[in-house]
Amino acid sequence: MSMRIGYGFDSHAFKAGVPLIIGGLPIEHNEGLAGHSDGDVLLHAITDALLGAVSAGDIGTFFPPSDPRWKGAPSSVFLQTALEEVATAGYRIVNVDTVLVMATPKIVPIAGELRERDDELLAIQPGGVGIKAKTPEGLGLDHVAMAHCTVLLENLPAPDPLAHMVATADAGSDEELNAVVEGLVGGRHDLTALGRKVAPFDTDDLT
Ligand SMILES: [Zn+2]
Repeated sequence: MSMRIGYGFDSHAFKAGVPLIIGGLPIEHNEGLAGHSDGDVLLHAITDALLGAVSAGDIGTFFPPSDPRWKGAPSSVFLQTALEEVATAGYRIVNVDTVLVMATPKIVPIAGELRERDDELLAIQPGGVGIKAKTPEGLGLDHVAMAHCTVLLENLPAPDPLAHMVATADAGSDEELNAVVEGLVGGRHDLTALGRKVAPFDTDDLT
């Protein structure tokens, strides 16, 4: 079992005249968060934590603020890309934990709804996302929203090599079948026995 951990942080200033969206949830408030996208500070921290966990760069690598396509974009688009990167790397989420830091609005009354929304966005089981809220005591940052996030990933089970050999044997000639059986009995990982081409050089040397 291989596990990986990721950490993300983000901050946005409050701004009048824009809707407030946190964790993909529209929240009733007199101000929203300034940003090139929808300013969703929580989804940005989660996105960065996921990308960091599989060493795939950060949100700015995939969605540069200079690109007009992401102006006003819903941050669920960024999160979706990070989830695809995690799956491509062969991992899935175990759990996500977050801390929101802001003076207002109060998160406690909507924390349950927020957790449900984010379980859904991350396509994980109920209770997979932790959301804690703090006020920025002593920081002098009452007009700013901040979010911290950690994620834990585990690797997806590898495909069963025996099932693959059986499938190959079904499709092959007697000669190939013998080679596959020999490979099974001998416990060897002989790619030529499975009818696959072997690279003319060791690809590990290219890294
Ligand atoms: Zn952000």
